[in-house]
Amino acid sequence: MSRRIGLLGGTFDPIHFGHLRSALEVGELLGLDEVRLVPSARPPHRSLPGASARQRLNMVRLAAEAGGNLVVDDRELLRDRPSYTVETLESLRAEIGDDVALFMIMGWDAFCGLPSWHRWESLLDLASLVVLQRPDYDLEVPEVLKDLLAARSVTDPGQSYASHGEIVCLAQTPLAISATHIRALLGEGRSPRFLLPDAVLNYIEINGLYQP
Ligand code: ATP
Repeated sequence: MSRRIGLLGGTFDPIHFGHLRSALEVGELLGLDEVRLVPSARPPHRSLPGASARQRLNMVRLAAEAGGNLVVDDRELLRDRPSYTVETLESLRAEIGDDVALFMIMGWDAFCGLPSWHRWESLLDLASLVVLQRPDYDLEVPEVLKDLLAARSVTDPGQSYASHGEIVCLAQTPLAISATHIRALLGEGRSPRFLLPDAVLNYIEINGLYQP
């Protein structure tokens, strides 16, 4: 069987157990060889009061050191402008070839926003989508995505062997953790411990991130 790679993109401001536990479970359920964490660049006006791109990358690296099959992929931060996801997938495809099965992992909130993404309909030509439940988001799926779900869904994740083009909706352990909530706790002088790895929290404290 050819290689199987998962891709979890995000701002990771900061990375937390909602991301990490999901990455682990998707990796197990789909038999992935690796899950790549891809921190995204952000327009400058959105970068305050969060962490810088370098700091977000450092936190993702610290989290990935915990082991498993996590790989940090910094290609979006190495570009001189924020890149579109479809471009990231194209650049990865150019490296790995057509045979490798590629799974783009995203939460339900991100999936519902898909129609606003640049060239979103091309994403399924490059990868399959893995949609995670997010217990803290109660969003109605747009009509256009209902049709897509009906046409492309694979109900048994173990049955997904295509290199691209399918949608897998997963019932991973629901964790109502968000970076927004972690930043809010820190902003109020409260502790987000046990919502994210200790190594990441230590980095936040040492660098004085997200403080009131
Ligand atoms: P913020 O609160 O700042 O918007 P976030 O917690 O949603 O951040 P992101 O870095 O924006 O984190 O998320 C990256 C990807 O991980 C997105 O596809 C998002 O839907 C997904 N994700 C984030 N948190 C969870 C979670 N607790 N469970 C499942 N998926 C999640």
